[in-house]
Amino acid sequence: MSKRDIRYVVDNRLCLSCGACAAACSRKSISFHETPGGYLYPEIDFATCVHCELCLDVCPGIHYIPQIHDTYLKASHSDSIQNALVGRATDDKVYYNGQSGGVVTALLEDILERHVVDAVLCAGMSYFSPPRGEALLIADANDLGKSQKSKYVPVPLLENLRDYLKHYKSIAVVGLPCHMHGLELLKKVIPDLEDKIPLRIGLICDRILTAKSIDWLAKQATVKPVSHIIYRDKSRSGYPGDPSIEASDGEIIMLKAADRMAIKDFFTLVRCRLCLDKMNAGADIVCGDPHGIDGVNRVHGETLVLVRSKRGKKIIDDAVGEGVIKLRSVSVSKAINGQYIDQRVKDWKAYLLAWKGLKMPLPDGAENLQGNGKTGIKLYENNLQQGLLLDSYESVNEMLKAADSWLKKKRLKRVMGVPLRFVQKVVKKIKNV
Ligand SMILES: Cc1cc2nc3c(=O)[nH]c(=O)nc-3n(C[C@H](O)[C@H](O)[C@H](O)COP(=O)(O)OP(=O)(O)OC[C@H]3O[C@@H](n4cnc5c(N)ncnc54)[C@H](O)[C@@H]3O)c2cc1C
Ligand code: SF4
Ligand code: SF4
Ligand code: SF4
Repeated sequence: MSKRDIRYVVDNRLCLSCGACAAACSRKSISFHETPGGYLYPEIDFATCVHCELCLDVCPGIHYIPQIHDTYLKASHSDSIQNALVGRATDDKVYYNGQSGGVVTALLEDILERHVVDAVLCAGMSYFSPPRGEALLIADANDLGKSQKSKYVPVPLLENLRDYLKHYKSIAVVGLPCHMHGLELLKKVIPDLEDKIPLRIGLICDRILTAKSIDWLAKQATVKPVSHIIYRDKSRSGYPGDPSIEASDGEIIMLKAADRMAIKDFFTLVRCRLCLDKMNAGADIVCGDPHGIDGVNRVHGETLVLVRSKRGKKIIDDAVGEGVIKLRSVSVSKAINGQYIDQRVKDWKAYLLAWKGLKMPLPDGAENLQGNGKTGIKLYENNLQQGLLLDSYESVNEMLKAADSWLKKKRLKRVMGVPLRFVQKVVKKIKNV
């Protein structure tokens, strides 16, 4: 398969649904479609495509960015962070509607109101049956409420960026690490991008699930059509938040966070397994949950804030000065350790090896970064195969049923594992006596 356009990326399952290819395409030949397994992949209209290959040039799915990887592999990742802080939005409405401490939204509100930017590009969850993640361009700070909380599904955030930049002089972008990689690569085709996007607020990102995870959760909650989902509804169940499902007649059904966690490995986007950049090394400011930090409000939540650039620092200092956020300093290394970055690097290396073992092509630039061990490769191969399988069920119903039985098996294994671990412990004790 030749590398001429993004079909190569999609066919080899390297697409992470960032939308950069569509932003690069001057012919508007690219649109996004959901696959039966819930991947959101770009398709080219060959009636208008002029085979310029720009979509492939800007694709972070196939191009690893060396500087990003260097921050994890060449030094301690803490070195790439200027400052770590924890805190919350001071406005109660923004705070209680936020995913963690509402800091992302308080910052967006502040920069819109002070005219630092004309608009912000972020993500929402549609009110539609079935609900799906969607890009939102917001110019009025009063509209930010609908963008709050995390959407753990694909959002091709950058898809219409070129059009947005025609209408707005400057835009701040909130996004996952892969969105930031797409932005970085888009500089090749949008030369004044750096001036037009004066602020990148990144989220820490472990992974996302395919859009069909929404339908599976909806099915656990109700037989009625579902019009909205909140993955972590902190306002209803307390921090960190259980999933809430809204049926079309307005009924709200709460699930348990454990339901969402249990199904993660089944629905994980396969390309996320090859992603190292959990800590969003390409952003000016990075926000996440303050795992591993002492003295944090664990009842209503707080936001971890990592400052990565000069312009990021200025925005934070201004917002603190304006009184819209309240932050206190915390240890950078504790913040990094709380996100298990060392383990992420080990897993990522093992996934690269396992991917190669499955005869799948690696992203460009990955060949010399992979490890050379073979430890536990089977587990990594199984996880990759699970992601690859998602599009091969006969129907969506069959896939959702497969998710049910996958979960049953997993639970059974866990239950069986308890006596087994007990016996192993006893044997070990006897041996030591
Ligand atoms: C997919 C995903 C994975 C995450 N994984 C981790 C993790 O492993 N560890 C951790 O500490 N934190 C993680 N986070 C970040 C965390 O969940 C919160 O988003 C963060 O703490 C900010 O909270 P807040 O209250 O300040 O933001 P809020 O005020 O609630 O604002 C959230 C902002 O994020 C934007 N947003 C939400 N989902 C997306 C999306 N899919 N793509 C682009 N923008 C989006 C919203 O539009 C909004 O602007 C993840 C977030 C996401 C979306
Ligand atoms: S090859 Fe060029 S014209 Fe065709 S889809 Fe890609 S960017 Fe658009
Ligand atoms: S640019 Fe983004 S959306 Fe387009 S093919 Fe590459 S990874 Fe997928
Ligand atoms: S894990 Fe990486 S590829 Fe997956 S959504 Fe997060 S940033 Fe994107």
